[in-house]
Amino acid sequence: MKLWIGCIFMLSAILGGAANVSKTLSQEEKPLVIILMGPPGAGKGTQAKPLSDELEIPHISTGDLFRKQIREQTPLGKTAKIYIDAGKYVPDELVFDMLFTRLSEPDCKKGYILDGFPRNITQARILDKKLDARIKVIYLHVPDSALIERITGRLSCKSCGKTYHTKNNPPKKSLTCDSCSSSLYQREDDKETVLKKRLEEYHTQTSPLLSYYKEKGVLSEVDATNSQETVLHLVLETLQVPARSV
Ligand SMILES: [Zn+2]
Repeated sequence: MKLWIGCIFMLSAILGGAANVSKTLSQEEKPLVIILMGPPGAGKGTQAKPLSDELEIPHISTGDLFRKQIREQTPLGKTAKIYIDAGKYVPDELVFDMLFTRLSEPDCKKGYILDGFPRNITQARILDKKLDARIKVIYLHVPDSALIERITGRLSCKSCGKTYHTKNNPPKKSLTCDSCSSSLYQREDDKETVLKKRLEEYHTQTSPLLSYYKEKGVLSEVDATNSQETVLHLVLETLQVPARSV
């Protein structure tokens, strides 16, 4: 009997050692992973930058990672480009390869902010399996009606790319850029019918994801109809981090 227990103990030590070289981390030692969720136009990108400064952890956007790999023409980038050019979603396997290559860099040791990822429940499950981390999900909530007003009022400059808003930030002269006097236009993505379709798709994909994280007790919702500064305060409050510079 004793011998048996000894054998099992040794075997599990060997297997455990092979599978996981590092020691088991305590909750506090685990990297803090913040997942920013929210519909298009909710301000994920806008919040990620100051949040990354406040928490001193990098902001990782899978979109940016892909663009970088494609620009540098890495093998990953070349494969991803084939899918993107065909108007298809890049397969999960490829996304994870790229993401985990980035996450293994030393600046991610303390934690990082993910924005726009995971996009669906399959990706969330894989992420959970692969990460030994403290995950916190922040849902930037903006009602669809407010998003539609925010986005469909947006005007962009054809030459310099500067953006305006018909109500909140109108140009001095109607449909003319203040900076370069070129004409302003509404991007195809910002038109109401296109936007409504994007929102519909978004809600279909993310409602199961929200329930998934809610069940795990890691989801917090923040009212993102407030000003940028207020939203940042609310997010930091939710994370129980005192603001330094705000
Ligand atoms: Zn302009």
